[in-house]
Amino acid sequence: MVKEFMEKVIQKNPGEVEFHQAVREVVESLEPFLVKNPQYTKAKILERIVEPERVIMFRVPWTNDKGEIQINRGFRIQMNSAIGPYKGGLRFHPTVYLGILKFLAFEQVFKNSLTGLPMGGGKGGSDFDPKGKSDNEVMRFCQSFMTELCRHIGADTDVPAGDIGVGGREIGYMYGQYKRLRNEFTGVLTGKGLAWGGSLIRPEATGYGATFLAIEMLKTRNISPAGKICAVSGSGNVAQYTIEKLTQLGAKAVTLSDSNGFIHDPAGIDAKKLEFVMELKNVRRGRIKEYADKFNCDYYEGKRPWGIKCDMAFPSATQNEIDKQDAETLVKNGCMCVSEGANMPSTPEAVEVFLKGKILYGPGKAANAGGVATSGLEMSQNSLRLSWTREEVEKRLQDIMINIHDTCVKYGKESDGFVNYVNGANIGGFVKVADAMLAQGLV
Ligand code: NDP
Repeated sequence: MVKEFMEKVIQKNPGEVEFHQAVREVVESLEPFLVKNPQYTKAKILERIVEPERVIMFRVPWTNDKGEIQINRGFRIQMNSAIGPYKGGLRFHPTVYLGILKFLAFEQVFKNSLTGLPMGGGKGGSDFDPKGKSDNEVMRFCQSFMTELCRHIGADTDVPAGDIGVGGREIGYMYGQYKRLRNEFTGVLTGKGLAWGGSLIRPEATGYGATFLAIEMLKTRNISPAGKICAVSGSGNVAQYTIEKLTQLGAKAVTLSDSNGFIHDPAGIDAKKLEFVMELKNVRRGRIKEYADKFNCDYYEGKRPWGIKCDMAFPSATQNEIDKQDAETLVKNGCMCVSEGANMPSTPEAVEVFLKGKILYGPGKAANAGGVATSGLEMSQNSLRLSWTREEVEKRLQDIMINIHDTCVKYGKESDGFVNYVNGANIGGFVKVADAMLAQGLV
């Protein structure tokens, strides 16, 4: 069944390799479940769920600081609205094309369902590269991008958030432009600033959530995070707050990376050093190499951190950043837990190594769902016109991650007691969306 299904998906979506990869993983997980539950196959839920409800692609013209005209391409994939308005981030990165955004939108459908909140799945972005651009250039780009996007989104229709290359600065510029064009102050984007409708803990949410899921996984083997050595990749939003929470829990994060290379700090990236990283990455927008110069540790140009001996790994940069060999090295070095802050950071071959090694492996759909879950909480606060306290939002986030863990165990526990979190997340995320699609008829 998987083979024939995938042949059709590949034929219909030529060249979109990341999308094929994401669909194949889900279909492989679902196959035994679908055999036992034929109502989904009869209603062609799988064929429907891989087809976006809508794809919007548009021109984004803007001028750089020299007055030269630049043209980028903008996208919004409205993948599935069976259980709520489309919800998912915007990515600004030169590698962005339809295949990347369709993979992310597809994953988002299952992830959002897993959170238990009423959110459909979507994703969008542009091949615009914010790196090296001035604030004014980023603002002009964001304004042009939103000038088109605003026709297609809305608080009850589609609510984008951040992703790679889209942080508080970009959300601010886009929100300002939306407000100006529509003359409404509404929860149309999440990840907003605190003074204008944002939620406490939203910046922290994805990293904190990936850490909470790791803790829940460790608990199944009666292991405490205290003193554990952690390899973290990336140095953006997700990596920063993963390290913050790990440190609070007594674990020791020893690596950080960006697209140029990684640093290894065996003494641990403590709160003070993390402050430096946040200033370096969020304000000065510099390279991670500066960390090694400042704190006198090793820097590995053009390398990824998976060769460093660790107890836990938190890939928090980008897709396919752990290949088979990296996975083998991690398992050989005693890594007992991988919690994916990034989306699809492990190749299918790497995932196989983790599952064969029977380590605690939390796939992105489950592990990084805390980000969108807290975006959902931001939407609730916007609708209520209230702001919850830090403690309240963090408690809700933690409860959601515990529920996600329980769902994975429910659908992913194998006969020998091993929990296959990949199957658990895929089946657990699928059921609610598929049942809603059945109930809503042929839409
Ligand atoms: P940021 O833009 O804040 O940071 C991204 C980090 O990853 C940077 O250090 C960046 O380095 C590095 N990176 C990006 N692309 C590549 C690449 N091709 N090769 C090597 N390194 C790369 O993004 P986020 O932290 O928000 O996102 C990181 C991951 O987490 C993504 O996979 C995203 O989809 C996922 N995620 C994010 C959520 C969120 O709430 N922000 C929610 C759920 C998932 P450089 O600066 O050199 O490009």
